[in-house]
Amino acid sequence: MSENIENTNESLDFIREMVAEDMKSGKFGGRVVTRFPPEPNGYLHIGHAKAICLDFGVAAENNGVCHLRFDDTNPTKEDSEFEESIKNDVRWLGFDFGEHLYYASDYFERMYECAVELIRRGKAYVCDLSAEEWDNYRGNLGTPGRESPGRSRTVEENLDLFTRMRNGEFEDGAMVLRARIDMASPNINMRDPVIYRIRRARHFRHGDKWCIYPMYDFAHPLEDAFEGVTHSFCTLEFEIHRPLYDWVLDSLGYRFPDRPRQTEFSRLNLTYTVMSKRKLLQLVKENHVKGWDDPRMPTLSGMRRRGIPAAAIRRLCRMVGVTKFDGTTDVALLEHCIREELNTTAPRRLAVLDPLKVTILNYPEGGVEPLDAVNNPEDPAAGSRKLTFSRELYIDRADFMLEPPKGYFRLAPGREVRLRYGYFIKCEEAVIDADGKVTELKCTFDPATRGGSAPDGRKVKGTIQWVSATDSVAAELRLYDRLFTVEQPGTDGVDFLTQLNPASCRTVEGRLEPSLATLTAGTTVQFERIGYFTVDPDTTADHPVFNRTVTLKDSWNTRQNAGK
Ligand code: ATP
Ligand code: MG
Repeated sequence: MSENIENTNESLDFIREMVAEDMKSGKFGGRVVTRFPPEPNGYLHIGHAKAICLDFGVAAENNGVCHLRFDDTNPTKEDSEFEESIKNDVRWLGFDFGEHLYYASDYFERMYECAVELIRRGKAYVCDLSAEEWDNYRGNLGTPGRESPGRSRTVEENLDLFTRMRNGEFEDGAMVLRARIDMASPNINMRDPVIYRIRRARHFRHGDKWCIYPMYDFAHPLEDAFEGVTHSFCTLEFEIHRPLYDWVLDSLGYRFPDRPRQTEFSRLNLTYTVMSKRKLLQLVKENHVKGWDDPRMPTLSGMRRRGIPAAAIRRLCRMVGVTKFDGTTDVALLEHCIREELNTTAPRRLAVLDPLKVTILNYPEGGVEPLDAVNNPEDPAAGSRKLTFSRELYIDRADFMLEPPKGYFRLAPGREVRLRYGYFIKCEEAVIDADGKVTELKCTFDPATRGGSAPDGRKVKGTIQWVSATDSVAAELRLYDRLFTVEQPGTDGVDFLTQLNPASCRTVEGRLEPSLATLTAGTTVQFERIGYFTVDPDTTADHPVFNRTVTLKDSWNTRQNAGK
């Protein structure tokens, strides 16, 4: 993963600076152990990619290790389908967790013992306030909470009740185990937070073994400590939970320098995108998209299907950097990163989105002729291929105008253009049907312009792509646009579903040069002058299907150059 390790000539972000300091001072004995802790309750999205690049990146840069740990402490929403997709996506993104695959649920017994230990130390108690009472006791920002009657239970009573909670003697919700901290704390998270609750739900890995489950704020620091994690990175919303993270470890006797430390960084947000798992799940469940891997989704599986290279996502994460400032990244920057990657890797091919028939009047009937076409001008090693020239061709309808405005250099009646890798052709006549639609162009070609220039020095300004009617193949081309019509969907009290873009997927039947018919799913090419396209898994030999990965026009670059 050279580009992840290559952080050397850029200035270090605050997290990398901190880790470098720790390495220098020998804080963790020179060890760096990080973890990426997804909850298996959805598919990973590009926001997770930022965390993955940081967690795995910092470990790799410091000869450390990064654990993939499933934070599967909430049985009602978790599933092995999600687990599998997450493992797959992390690997696809280019990171190797090797043998370091862990599950929070495998620590349930140890966590239970930790809870018992807290009770023994007088630091946890069983509370059986009802839901309504709970609200009254909690207080609010300005008012301290009140102490629950359970707070004065003896250690013996608490041990007895907690054991019976585990043994299933009480209803769901009848009681909870709470940390005994400070009901007057200005930080609500520290007002005797719940650390265990009763929940009869089948766990996808442990079945019905447990009916009590630990809460995230209790479980997470323990998971980190059990695994010997040194640096625990999470997003900013956990900043106010950090005192509790530290309290749990302190109370159980985990001491520096050998215990994990939590550091927060800002999330990745993208314009025109929703990133909340709940909303993504809703899009899938309510069929607003075709699934988690719909190419319009910000999920890693959707992006992969769309043809976005993992390297482009890593590049974006590098460009965005790691800070404590919340912000929203322009999705145009992601598109820029995709083009930067694909420009060097994707072979060039010819295709037309909206075929318009062209007959070359002075080309012999039935005649065909091979023409050389360069595979990738950015990569001489990519070589060249043959295209077939013939009397009947297709060009893109968008490259012809009956009445061209000033500055239009493509085809029009009486005008001449260059066919890419071919000849100059001139439009002699446009055939128009009863509805006024152009159905065919009758053209002539100049045999002396083979290879794209005229011996008499005459110039043409336009070059357009084309395919031969003899051997081109029809294909389904899925043209994607942004999934939402507004930059920040779902804000200002608006339902994000009302902001879905009805034109986010437009399907056209285009025509492709024949070499494109046999590509396997996942292959990305550039359709010259149109965009980057990737073969979809729906493709068959008879019916090729391509996803438009991204268009060629780089609005981010343009804006940068304009100094905006
Ligand atoms: P939720 O907890 O609401 O289900 P989540 O997005 O926090 O959703 P997790 O599976 O808990 O999902 O996330 C795993 C890790 O990825 C966490 O450390 C989390 O902080 C990080 N992460 C999630 N979303 C983003 C984001 N948009 N940018 C950066 N990191 C993120
Ligand atoms: Mg989370």
